[in-house]
Amino acid sequence: MKEQFEDSESYAHQLDSDDPLSEYRNHFYIPKNTIYLDGNSLGLLSREAEQSLHRVIDEWKELGILGWFKQDKSWFHIGEDLGAAAAPLVGAEPNEVVATGTTTINLHSLVSTFYHPEQGKRTKIIADELDFPTDIYALKSQIKLKGLDPKEHLILIPSDDGRTIDDERIIKRMDDDVALILLPSVLYRSGQLFDMERITHAANDLKIPIGWDCCHSVGVIPHKFNDWGVDFAFWCSYKYLNSGPGGTGFLYLNKKHFDKEPGLAGWFGYEKAKQFDMSLDFNHAKSAGGWQISSSNILCSAPIEGALNLTLKAGIHNIRRKSTKQTDYLIYLVDKLLSREPYNFNVGTPRNPEKRSGHVAIEHDTEARRISDCLRINYNVISDFRYPNVIRLAPIALYNKYHEIWYVVQCLKQIIDENEYEKFE
Ligand SMILES: *Cc1c(COP(=O)(O)O)cnc(C)c1O
Repeated sequence: MKEQFEDSESYAHQLDSDDPLSEYRNHFYIPKNTIYLDGNSLGLLSREAEQSLHRVIDEWKELGILGWFKQDKSWFHIGEDLGAAAAPLVGAEPNEVVATGTTTINLHSLVSTFYHPEQGKRTKIIADELDFPTDIYALKSQIKLKGLDPKEHLILIPSDDGRTIDDERIIKRMDDDVALILLPSVLYRSGQLFDMERITHAANDLKIPIGWDCCHSVGVIPHKFNDWGVDFAFWCSYKYLNSGPGGTGFLYLNKKHFDKEPGLAGWFGYEKAKQFDMSLDFNHAKSAGGWQISSSNILCSAPIEGALNLTLKAGIHNIRRKSTKQTDYLIYLVDKLLSREPYNFNVGTPRNPEKRSGHVAIEHDTEARRISDCLRINYNVISDFRYPNVIRLAPIALYNKYHEIWYVVQCLKQIIDENEYEKFE
């Protein structure tokens, strides 16, 4: 049921004092005097993530190469161990998730595993025109590697309004010319959340393999990959999972596919017990771990342990509940205080909380860039400008206060009232 919010400052403080997750903010390093609302691009450092990183640095100092095979938490198993720890966040079994590579690399690895166009029959890949560009670049190169033309074989489901795409429109395009579907769980500009369950079922019914890019949903929304019948998925660790810039990514592979041959083989995917036999015949581990390619990037994986523990301790359902309430509250304030003349802000994110992820896209058709600069420079508010007219604001359940949301809306009001944005280039 929709909350009845109020727009007073005291009400914002009241929401904070009623917040069951408020204690988690103390675990994070909040940049000084800053209101940080960009955790959907780069999550902040927690003391827990810092500690697990420091521990690994100490291990390197003290053990050198022996760190790879120490008894407890060996570097050799870090990908599998972190994957198992993350599995409950996505509704997977422990060996169906591994921490490895990075988002775009994992996309290449999984698409090259699942995309086998059959001449004259199933050749096409379904994606959408509002995808994060790297996914489209990668898909086009995968199609070209098969000797096919992306113009003909990549289907980009269109959007009518430039913000959202109807789930039904994707389902309607599924046909027997489609070899693979790869979609983002969330559209990165508007924050629309697709109905992954429904779309996955539709793909399953037609026996079309389906994969999800969950960069904008893991860590803020619960997932049930196994129940839904997802074939594969991948996501980064540096947004809602707070594991640091360029942190190691994750991939999920449904166990029914463990016997498939990894499209991009590498020695870290070798059956663990025999990896050091150094055979020239590749024999991959029958788990998501089989899709690792290179030596684990230990230093970029180490913070994940601490960061993940914090997310698991807070509980993904509690995180989702607070996140939804925070975005609801932000939308309420923008509608109430900023939607009319002379403010002219517009909420570009779906209003139904089940259709949105963790950020709100605030649109301003003429001055979004200057307003976003002004927020940062005059008010120390870190937002995220997306050309041409979107300011993304992401209140993060683990560390943002309701009062910060209230304050940012006051800043936006003031910036327009005083024409402050005009001083910016
Ligand atoms: C952040 C993001 C990426 C980033 O890819 P990297 O390879 O980690 O740089 C890819 N896809 C989506 C949908 C994202 O939100």
